[in-house]
Amino acid sequence: MIEEKRIPAFIVRISYDIIAEETPNVEALNRVLSLAGLDRYIDHPPPMDNSPAISQHEFEKMIGMVWQVFDDIQAREIFRRTGERGFEDLTRSGALAFTQFLRAFDGLGTKRERAAMALSRLTDELSRAMGYQHVFRREGEDFLLDIHQCPYCAELLHRPNATPIAHFCHVPTAFYEAAINWASGDPHTVQEISCRVTSPDQDYCRFKVFWNVGLKRKV
Ligand SMILES: [Zn+2]
Repeated sequence: MIEEKRIPAFIVRISYDIIAEETPNVEALNRVLSLAGLDRYIDHPPPMDNSPAISQHEFEKMIGMVWQVFDDIQAREIFRRTGERGFEDLTRSGALAFTQFLRAFDGLGTKRERAAMALSRLTDELSRAMGYQHVFRREGEDFLLDIHQCPYCAELLHRPNATPIAHFCHVPTAFYEAAINWASGDPHTVQEISCRVTSPDQDYCRFKVFWNVGLKRKV
């Protein structure tokens, strides 16, 4: 039997920190950890490094418990901040090989080329680090990103009567938006255009980069 891929500690730590920062005391964080079966992290934050920390199943459960403990608006905020922080940390820490690679893009042709190469490389790195297959491709002017067996909505698949809209996987949406904006220097918009929650027959969630669609200043 192939051993299940373990999620690196820094990914868990980022979610941990965001929940701690967004809530007035440790109760909410401890509740999420406890419901996700991660009591071992109560008062013991995981290290900010690449060491293998939790199973994919535990990761999916942790994301799912954020939906359970917080209301939808709060959960969305936590997920978006987690995605943004995830990308920020990546550009700073070099936790993945990604950062060294990005410097090579500095002299590269157009912004779109630079962004495409960055996203393509990023999806490879994420597949390797997390064990979920991330796939990048172009579609006309825009880019598509698929996350197979997407962990960000895995728990919601068991929720009856989920709302019939496609925006559940906020962590990768915000993460890719930060990545594309950084790589190109301009604002673009990333949307989840097809989610496993509302399309149960597919085994991936699909994200689209709407090139040159964005607000000058973040709201
Ligand atoms: Zn999804």
